[in-house]
Amino acid sequence: MGKLFGTFGVRGIANEEITPEFALGIGMAFGTMLRREGREKPLVVIGRDTRVSGEMLKKALISGLLSTGCDVVDVGIAPTPAIQWATDHFSADGGTVITASHNPPEYNGIKLLEPNGMGLEREREAIVEELFFSGNFERADWRRIGGVREESIVKPYIEAIKGRVDVETIQKRKPFVVVDTSNGAGSLTLPYLLRELGCKVVSVNAHPDGHFPARNPEPTEKNLWELMRIVKALGADFGVAQDGDADRAVFIDENGRFIQGDKTFALVADAVLREKEGGLLVTTVATSNLLDEVARRNNAKVMRTKVGDLIVARALLENNGTIGGEENGGVIFPDFVLGRDGAMTTAKIVEIFAKSGKRFSELIDDLPPYYQFKTKKKVEGNRKGIVVKVAEIAKAKGYTLNTTDGAKIIFQDGWVLVRASGTEPIIRIFSEAKSEEKAEEYLNLGLGLLEEALRA
Ligand code: MG
Repeated sequence: MGKLFGTFGVRGIANEEITPEFALGIGMAFGTMLRREGREKPLVVIGRDTRVSGEMLKKALISGLLSTGCDVVDVGIAPTPAIQWATDHFSADGGTVITASHNPPEYNGIKLLEPNGMGLEREREAIVEELFFSGNFERADWRRIGGVREESIVKPYIEAIKGRVDVETIQKRKPFVVVDTSNGAGSLTLPYLLRELGCKVVSVNAHPDGHFPARNPEPTEKNLWELMRIVKALGADFGVAQDGDADRAVFIDENGRFIQGDKTFALVADAVLREKEGGLLVTTVATSNLLDEVARRNNAKVMRTKVGDLIVARALLENNGTIGGEENGGVIFPDFVLGRDGAMTTAKIVEIFAKSGKRFSELIDDLPPYYQFKTKKKVEGNRKGIVVKVAEIAKAKGYTLNTTDGAKIIFQDGWVLVRASGTEPIIRIFSEAKSEEKAEEYLNLGLGLLEEALRA
């Protein structure tokens, strides 16, 4: 039996790997599982991002669900976190999202959700896989075939976020924000949310268009050079960019400087932990030590997991966590949505900015300084095996090691992480320290260990 799901859902080239037949099979497998769990007429929420292949796949997936006897709420185009929120909001028995997140436009994929909106648990994912490959589906008697109801969730989702921040304070400061939603699902929500919060909004790349004509939807520094120039040229307070399905939000300060996701995550975590007077922060081994400082000053604990948003979300749920996130601009507010939410993150950042009275660059520069380097090396073959070898060499040399995910060598003032990518033939090396020189030294040390492992 093949392995269907990656860390969160399945992805591939639309109409080659992710075909209508494939979507139909997933719909039937998911619906069959829900039926066999004893629900007479399960309710499933479905939504998608703006990709060209989205409608085709959605209709096939819906057919599969209806055939097994599920009822469907079709929320149309919406951010992934909004669909997660809606699954919980409608008290559905499950949810489905058609998206390939930040991948190029020719890709698409399917994510399945628990009733609480979180990605499907491993055990249930395995059941869906088994049903998909066996074709042992539940087919409803013709009288019991499901029905579809269409419902927009854009307004209630925006309202729900507005209810979680101090709108009055934001309206007083009236921040000037440039929004770049990459022609993705966030185009329908983020510019409107910001206006309703009381911001002055200029939006770019905000017409929904699955060709992603303006830029690569991954919000990296390289892909955001235009936004960086626009924010500065317009004299805006800051800029915010999203990926294709709007679960991530990445920020640009008023000088056009790209801000690493760790730093905005730290700002949000600091505010949330202060409001809740401590708690538990969950993040991955690839995120800055800045988060430990933020947790310490708020009397909060830190849990570090493997890399992956669903892994962080599960840890938050299981340990009653307060706030979670990753270094790539994904922040999870577990009492709102059990997944990364770019709009909620942006609303919180706007609130922090308005309350502080400071410039955006000052907010960032007031954080304890950490320097990071990131690089990657193309490696064919058994990447995980090579990383295990890196760990062995490091251990033999007497370094302090953490192997939660990859090989992380810990120093008094920093670390270097050597980790195999789950999706690409590369090994990533991240380093961090309190000074630029040390961070570079640790990066080179990681590279050296990798070279040694490759020769061994
Ligand atoms: Mg995404």
